[in-house]
Amino acid sequence: MFSYWEKKHFFHYDLIVVGSGFVGLSTAIHYKVKYPRASVLVLERGVFPTGASTRNAGFACFGSLTEVLDDLHHMTHEEVFGLVERRYSGLESIRTHFGEKKLGYSHSNGYELLGESQLETIGELASVNKLLRPIFGDDVFSLIKKPEKMGFADRVKAVVKNKFEGELDPGLFMISLWKLAQQEGIQLLTGVSVCEVQKDQGLILAKDASGATNLEFEAKKIALCTNAFTEKLWPGLDIVPGRGLILLSKPLDFKIPWKGTFHMDKGYVYFRQVDGRLLLGGARNKDFESEKSTGFSVNPRKVSFRKVSY
Ligand SMILES: Cc1cc2nc3c(=O)[nH]c(=O)nc-3n(C[C@H](O)[C@H](O)[C@H](O)COP(=O)(O)OP(=O)(O)OC[C@H]3O[C@@H](n4cnc5c(N)ncnc54)[C@H](O)[C@@H]3O)c2cc1C
Repeated sequence: MFSYWEKKHFFHYDLIVVGSGFVGLSTAIHYKVKYPRASVLVLERGVFPTGASTRNAGFACFGSLTEVLDDLHHMTHEEVFGLVERRYSGLESIRTHFGEKKLGYSHSNGYELLGESQLETIGELASVNKLLRPIFGDDVFSLIKKPEKMGFADRVKAVVKNKFEGELDPGLFMISLWKLAQQEGIQLLTGVSVCEVQKDQGLILAKDASGATNLEFEAKKIALCTNAFTEKLWPGLDIVPGRGLILLSKPLDFKIPWKGTFHMDKGYVYFRQVDGRLLLGGARNKDFESEKSTGFSVNPRKVSFRKVSY
């Protein structure tokens, strides 16, 4: 049961955002900057944001060559251009706003490793550069002259460099967003799981972390920023989860001879080093069906890797 004061002040807002990942917090902040007098509440079911934002690989990327080419097979040139433009301008905007140090950003360049079967994509490198030139004012992708010198196994036949790519620390980015949200006077409640959204009435029905307390919020506007979990709140919506898993090694007792962000297989597989550890991620393409999941468990399917010694 809530007191008169709680009922009077804690349950009514101009905007309620559900989900406090990068998208939820950015939405709340942008709205508040545009409408400074608006009351804004963010509801998050975890103690911390519990989705992709704090579980990702930290690539500050916008698409590798084969990923862009793959997109061009099922999207128009304008759509692919718009997608890359939005991704890059988003990255530029957080770099400018927060500064690279606060994001743990390093401009280390991106690399895509091509095997024999992908060598034909090199023939399309110039046309992709031409398509993206208005965004970057320069060529994005270039071929590394002597890929064998990078020390990869002989299965890697060519390496494509992306000089506009970098890496960041997603935890630091989240902290920067928290601070900014706080400065803007945005209310963030964690441990509140939204169960139902009645959009026509502007009602949000939720439960606290124990599941015992029912909460009923009211908002003039509601933003659902729940990513893969949205379908549960809005059944019938065409949003399919595309889970990916990240594996982080123990600290390595040898020095990895390369620096940067690395992509393979149309961007589905990626790796980089983090604090002397190897981060290896993705591989959703090895089991698309099982990875249409919002579960946090590990996919038991085995993928074989060849051991490489340095
Ligand atoms: C394995 C992996 C690696 C990735 N690597 C990269 C990368 O290197 N670079 C890159 O740019 N992108 C990467 N991404 C994508 C990127 O992380 C996501 O696009 C981004 O984090 C999405 O942010 P979001 O706020 O939409 O979603 P999320 O971060 O998933 O946030 C959704 C939030 O909603 C909350 N929520 C859900 N349901 C409810 C509910 N009912 N009530 C209240 N709260 C709820 C969740 O707890 C969560 O905090 C990766 C994604 C994955 C899965």
